[in-house]
Amino acid sequence: MRPAILASFVLGLISTAHAQELKWFKGNTHTHSLWSDGNDFPEMITDWYKQHGYDFLAISDHNVLQAKEVWMSVPAIEKRRKSLGKTTMEKYRARFGDEWVTTREKDGVTEVRLKKLEEYRPKFEEPGKFLIVQAEEISAGLGSVPIHMNAVNLKEEIKPVKDLGSIPEVMRANLRLVNEQSKRLGVPMLTHINHPNFRWALSAEDLASVLEENFWEIYNGHPGINWQGDESRPGHEKIWDIANTLRITEFKAQPLYGVGTDDSHRYHGEDNGPGRGWVMVRASKLNTDEIVKAMQAGDFYASSGVTLDDISHFKDGTLRIRIHAEPGVTYSTQIRGTLRGYDATTRPAPAVKGDLHPARLLYSDDVGKTLATIEGTEVTWKPSGQEMYFRAVITSSKPYDKPSFEGQTEMAWTQPMGWRK
Ligand SMILES: [Zn+2]
Ligand SMILES: [Zn+2]
Repeated sequence: MRPAILASFVLGLISTAHAQELKWFKGNTHTHSLWSDGNDFPEMITDWYKQHGYDFLAISDHNVLQAKEVWMSVPAIEKRRKSLGKTTMEKYRARFGDEWVTTREKDGVTEVRLKKLEEYRPKFEEPGKFLIVQAEEISAGLGSVPIHMNAVNLKEEIKPVKDLGSIPEVMRANLRLVNEQSKRLGVPMLTHINHPNFRWALSAEDLASVLEENFWEIYNGHPGINWQGDESRPGHEKIWDIANTLRITEFKAQPLYGVGTDDSHRYHGEDNGPGRGWVMVRASKLNTDEIVKAMQAGDFYASSGVTLDDISHFKDGTLRIRIHAEPGVTYSTQIRGTLRGYDATTRPAPAVKGDLHPARLLYSDDVGKTLATIEGTEVTWKPSGQEMYFRAVITSSKPYDKPSFEGQTEMAWTQPMGWRK
């Protein structure tokens, strides 16, 4: 008897059918530099990511591509650094040499020219080892409500469309610009809606209703984005479950896929630094088209520290996850999902003074219900067949470096499964 081997033949793998040829690639798609409100040069930032085991990076400055001539005054650069020690310019010169740095004097002030992506790209990119993807954080809004979305693998700068009739309309108008560009140029592009709870801007219903979008940030490492929510406004976990449930039931659409990002702005030891959230993408090759296509197919997970060695989804619906064990760390996996016949009642959330968004709805615990909790590094779970979708959230016991909220530990999130009928 060889039941284990027999079982794997009988069940057959769906998502890892070509596991032999596929590899995991680590990347971050949300980063800021001096080109907008970050506090370091893109070369310094790219160097950090490459040195820290990332396979790809997208620097996504607000409403700008690093593709034109821009000069910045040195005092303005140094003012952004909130830490002691060597200056930003000293570190930049030390790393890349005086001959790399272009300065000029203007009205008695030293200015430095920010290098364009195409100038510094050859310094870092290596086939199969490191890839730079062009991106922009399209930073639109409705009045004072920030509506931010990242366009990854963008080729032409997009000027955001703002102040249309509603939040979803603003989202749609900007997403259409990316889709139009992608089609016109024949280049795959990916967008993700960013930090919905930043200034409590977007609701789960907003995310659910904009069917032009299939991605959002389940995790964003910026400490100011209200990841946990509050009693009137759902946190990221619940937002995802509400949006997924509404998409499947009301909009007959696919659930959202969740990315993990840094949204880093500070690179001199401050709180909002790099290395806080990322995606692991399973693709055949490290090139932009393959990465974007794998993400569009949902073959990736989001992480704020936990690494998964494998995610398999069998034909009978069984999910199997192998968690990469770190010594002395324990892991707990929560399977969350919404079942058919769930309690769909809602109630209005308590009003919050000064909230920019119309009052939200609160949903029952059936939306994103905990279907199972599994301890350890080997997770196998078989759905009952009543799930409209399910997903796995892995929480480790390892405290998060520079936490965004009290008690934060490292986590990982798989994409919603079981919804493709
Ligand atoms: Zn933003
Ligand atoms: Zn950002």
